[in-house]
Amino acid sequence: MSSDSEDTTSGSESEASDSAKANSTLEFIEKLSDVPMGRLPPNIEFQRTRVECKADAPIHTDTFQYNGAYASMGVDNNLVDSFCDNFKVEVINLTEDEMEFDMIGIDPALANAFRRILIAEVPTMAIEKVLIANNTSVIQDEVLAHRLGLIPIKVDPRLFEFTENNTPNEKNTIVFKLHVRCERGGQRISVKSKELIWLPNGSEYPLESQDTKSESSSKPKTYTSFTCSQDSLPEFSDNPICPTSGDITIARLGPGQEIDLEAHAVKGIGKTHAKWSPVAPVWYRMLPEVIISQDIEDEMAEKLVATCPVKVFDIEDIGNDRIAGKKRATVARPRACTLCRECIREGKGWENSISLQRKKDHFIFKIESTGVLPPEVLFTEAVKILEDKCDRVISDLS
Ligand code: SF4
Repeated sequence: MSSDSEDTTSGSESEASDSAKANSTLEFIEKLSDVPMGRLPPNIEFQRTRVECKADAPIHTDTFQYNGAYASMGVDNNLVDSFCDNFKVEVINLTEDEMEFDMIGIDPALANAFRRILIAEVPTMAIEKVLIANNTSVIQDEVLAHRLGLIPIKVDPRLFEFTENNTPNEKNTIVFKLHVRCERGGQRISVKSKELIWLPNGSEYPLESQDTKSESSSKPKTYTSFTCSQDSLPEFSDNPICPTSGDITIARLGPGQEIDLEAHAVKGIGKTHAKWSPVAPVWYRMLPEVIISQDIEDEMAEKLVATCPVKVFDIEDIGNDRIAGKKRATVARPRACTLCRECIREGKGWENSISLQRKKDHFIFKIESTGVLPPEVLFTEAVKILEDKCDRVISDLS
């Protein structure tokens, strides 16, 4: 017993002495003039916030996503606080189908989460079921159905429900009719998406299994069960449902050929099939920074301006009374830099005077909508989806 207690006592003494040593070492480091406490040394700060683009490859591409990464230097790396303090969105350009905006103060993982949600999780309506009554065109039925599925439909998907094996009704299905015939002796014709005619009362095709004799007096059953006409609903009375563009070619018909079908659109997400994705591309890139550290003048400046394919550089006249016509290269449009690295290619003469870098927490984000919803609405929907996911995680943890 006595020897155990001695061991325990000597163990705790040794731990205390180790801890005292560590504290005194930390105090010693804190007092060193070249170790600034509370802020990172410039070289570490540069690595933390910038990707440096060298002639052969970028460096410092990693990000530190855990709290306490710089605790030994007295720097608080609390990601949540930093996000709350610094996050902002600045819209640069907004049109009917495109939006370019800057997301500032955000981690690359979060920026990518928005991109993936926009591609795969914001729902839209797309043609899922095609009932073909007649197709004598050269396009096979399954290819025709696939082409129809890819036509974006201009309708707000938030007004519809997911079908989830329910009977197709006015709340979960949109029905279109397509009946085009190329007359014999005529020219070949193109079948365009504008030929898709919305059927607000649902399917017009009677169910094959129906006993026509027994139900001859009642309304014939069709492939949908609409309780009311969709165009009687206030959301659609002024906005008839149609494809986003009437000029999408579906098929070509030769003389005597005909397509007669019904297409049923339902709500879905891009994770199930890309036809439900509401965006054409959605992409982001880090904000480029182009820095001229040593003046590039006169002929060299002219050559540098001509070298850049996207005209990032410009010429500034720095001549005066004594030296007329002197010129210097300046960085005029750094945002346009595509990082082709042509300006830092060896042998040009100015490669050591230019540095290229990217800001790790500043993203140029671009959303190109397929036309189903405006791009700003798509982004707010993506934010709501991410919020729901966070809520689910928090409620599962508590
Ligand atoms: S990397 Fe290419 S695009 Fe960017 S500034 Fe240099 S030459 Fe221009």
